[in-house]
Amino acid sequence: MATLLVRNPTLIVTMDDHRREIADGGLFIRDGFIEQVGQAAELPDQADEILDLSGHLLLPGLINTHHHFYQTLTRAVPAAQDVNLFNWLKTLYPIWAGLTPDDIYTSTQTALAELALSGCTAASDHLYIFPNGSRLDDEIQAGLDIGVRLQAARGSMSLGESQGGLPPDRVVESEDFILADSQRLIETYHDPHPGAMTQVVLAPCSPFSVTADLMRQSAIMARRYGVHLHTHLAETADEEQFCLDMFGHRPVAYMDSLDWVGDDVWFAHSVHVKQGEIQFYAQTGCGVAHCPTSNMRLASGIAPVLDMLQAGVKVGLGVDGSASNDGSHLLEEVRQAMLVARVRAGLLGASRSGDQAPPLMTARQALEIATRGSAAVLGRSDIGSLESGKCADFFAVNLNKLGFAGGLHDPVATLVFCAPVQADYTVVGGKFIVKEGQMVTVDAPLLVEKHNRAARRLLANASTH
Ligand SMILES: [Zn+2]
Repeated sequence: MATLLVRNPTLIVTMDDHRREIADGGLFIRDGFIEQVGQAAELPDQADEILDLSGHLLLPGLINTHHHFYQTLTRAVPAAQDVNLFNWLKTLYPIWAGLTPDDIYTSTQTALAELALSGCTAASDHLYIFPNGSRLDDEIQAGLDIGVRLQAARGSMSLGESQGGLPPDRVVESEDFILADSQRLIETYHDPHPGAMTQVVLAPCSPFSVTADLMRQSAIMARRYGVHLHTHLAETADEEQFCLDMFGHRPVAYMDSLDWVGDDVWFAHSVHVKQGEIQFYAQTGCGVAHCPTSNMRLASGIAPVLDMLQAGVKVGLGVDGSASNDGSHLLEEVRQAMLVARVRAGLLGASRSGDQAPPLMTARQALEIATRGSAAVLGRSDIGSLESGKCADFFAVNLNKLGFAGGLHDPVATLVFCAPVQADYTVVGGKFIVKEGQMVTVDAPLLVEKHNRAARRLLANASTH
C-alpha cells in the first residue's frame, strides 16, 4: 500500500460536480487512486511520500482526445506549411511511407513527453499508417514506458487512390488484415478496468480513406468488445463535398447510415456541422474532439463549440497531429480553444450588440473541456476530476513566474489567459512523470537527438524516391 500526501497548494481546481476550488487543501492518494480531497486539517498528516506544493496551482491532469504522435517527425515540412488539408496530406503521405517501428516508438515518446510537460496525463492517439512492419504495439510499449495513460486508436486506411480515395495505394492495408489486427490488439491490450493505462479504440481514418464496409465492420467489432470508435469528421469543406459526391450524404448523415453514432463514438474536428447535426450529436451521445490550432493551421474553419456545449454535446480537447499544430502543448490548446471561440463570437456578433451579443468562452469553460469534457468523450469515468475514488492524475504549476506576475487574484484564469507555461509536476496514478519541471521517465536530451536523426532520415529518403 503506497500513499502520497499532496499538501499546501495555493488552490486546488477539482472539476468535481460542484466545480469546487479549494484553498488550504490537499490530496491523499493510496495505490494510484485519490482517497481524499479536502481541507488540509481533514487529511492524514503522514504518508509514504509527501509532495509540498506551496505556491503552486493544482489541477486535474489534462486529457488529449486526438493526436497522431508519429507526425512529430514531420513538423513544419516546407511543402506542407501553407496548404489546406487535402494538399497537406498528399505532400506528407509519401514521407510517412518511410516510417519504421522504431520511428513509431521514438515519436510516441516525444509526443507523450511534450504532452506531459504541458500538464497532460492521458492521451488518445490515432495511428492509421503502418509501413515497414510498424504496429500499434510499438506505440503502446512507448506509452507504457513514459507512463501517460493511452487510448491507442487502431487507425486504418483501405481506400487507395486507384479506388477513388485520397492516399496512395502503397500506404493502404487490406480490410481483412485491418480487422484481424484490430481484434488481436483489443484482445492483447484493452483494459476495461478503472485505472487502465492502456485502452484500445477502433478508428478507420476518415471518409475519404476507408470504405463504408470497413466502417460498418469496425463498428460491429467495437460493440462486440465494448471499445470506443473514433474517426475524423466534418473537418473541411473539401471533405463535405467528397461525402456528398461519393456517398450522397453530408458527413454526419453518412455516419448515421453506417451505424457510427452513439455514446461510444467520438469525432475529431466537427467544424462543418449545422445546428441540426449538433442536436443529433446531443441526442445520440456522439462526442467531439475539438482541435482549434489544427483547424486554424490548415484553414479548416472554426468549430461551433459553444453551440455544442449549449446543446449538451460532449466536447473534449485535442492538439491533433504534430504536422498540423505543430506542437503538443495541451495547456496552450486550452488557451487557443478559449480565444478562437471568441473570434467566432465576434464574427457572429458583428451585427448584434449589448444583450444580443453571443457569450464569450471563459477560461474555466476551456479548462473544463480539457478535463471533464475529454474524459466523457473517451468514455472514462475514472479520470477528468480530482475526487475521491478517481485516478491520482494531476498537474501543478508554480505561480511564482514572471509571466503570471500581476494575475494572482485569479490564478485559474491567469493560467489560461497568460502565455502557456510548462507543468512543474505531472503525476499519473500517483507516479511522477514530471518533477520540478523535468521529465522523470525518459532522458529528454537523448530523445531529442534520436528523434531528429529519424526525422532527417525520413525527409532525406522521401526526397530521393
Ligand atoms: Zn487528426
